[in-house]
Amino acid sequence: MQCPFCKADDTKVIDSRLVGEGEQVRRRRECISCEERFTTYETIELSLPRLIKRDGSCVQFREEKLRSGLLRALEKRAIRAEQVDVAVNHILSRLRASGEREIETAVLGEWVMAELKALDEIAYIRFASVYRRFQDINEFQDEIVRLKKSSESNYE
Ligand SMILES: [Zn+2]
Repeated sequence: MQCPFCKADDTKVIDSRLVGEGEQVRRRRECISCEERFTTYETIELSLPRLIKRDGSCVQFREEKLRSGLLRALEKRAIRAEQVDVAVNHILSRLRASGEREIETAVLGEWVMAELKALDEIAYIRFASVYRRFQDINEFQDEIVRLKKSSESNYE
């Protein structure tokens, strides 16, 4: 940490304590060259990456949008609200764990599909048909065949 007074690179920490509920660390530092003191705050980087859309434009990730997309696919399916929360949280932690500043919507879409596939196959097909923009009934059928094969192999 550079000294804000003399720009020296070497400073020492003379005091360090947790702030609030421990989500922040306050450090008192002293410059080794000019002996001025200053304070720094350290927080965990938890911001979510932005999404890059198919057309190259960038949008802020929004949790409500993710949730409503999941709910739309799960409409009238026997899935409880807590299960949707779990799916949303899985996706949020994957986004955070990625450590990326930007992520393609295609990647996010695959994660959503993976969650839906585990939750409800009908919802998965609904989402995939819109998301992957199935061009005709054959693509739809192919996806169902693939899904059938993968769920059969799961039970073997
Ligand atoms: Zn200094």
